[in-house]
Amino acid sequence: MSETKAVTECTLCAQKFSADRVEIPVIGEAPSSTIIRIVHGLKKHLESKHGREINVIKELSQNFYGYLVTSHFQTEDVHLGLAFDIARAGLHKMTRRPIQVPDGAIREQLAKMGLSGDTLQNVAQYIINVRDAYDEEGIFSAEAHRESVIQQSQGPVLVTP
Ligand SMILES: [Zn+2]
Repeated sequence: MSETKAVTECTLCAQKFSADRVEIPVIGEAPSSTIIRIVHGLKKHLESKHGREINVIKELSQNFYGYLVTSHFQTEDVHLGLAFDIARAGLHKMTRRPIQVPDGAIREQLAKMGLSGDTLQNVAQYIINVRDAYDEEGIFSAEAHRESVIQQSQGPVLVTP
């Protein structure tokens, strides 16, 4: 492949597309016309070959749009706030880097640092809690948040805005 062109492959059907390489993106700037053109072409491929996936993308885009709109408001409606927090949490899970830090790896690293017994367990639990807070897992998950709203309202939760 030439230095000015790059191949992008569909992960669903392995079809290959050749396009101009893009410049290193600048954080805070809108995507370049080259990026917009490439994304438009890839979208056309999804629309023509992968209808189910493009429908999921449209649904997620709607959730993201709703999140962006509601991020400029505060509401007394706990259920409305929960609906958009669930949408936000789904986007967070989908877009975060896939880095896994298992509990065992944390304990193993602390043991290598010389910690043991209760100290190791307490420090490990603290690190696990911080990890779960950033990853929005366990007691920090959207599901846990939803359960807490249900318990507070003692009734069914309306999750659609
Ligand atoms: Zn494809």
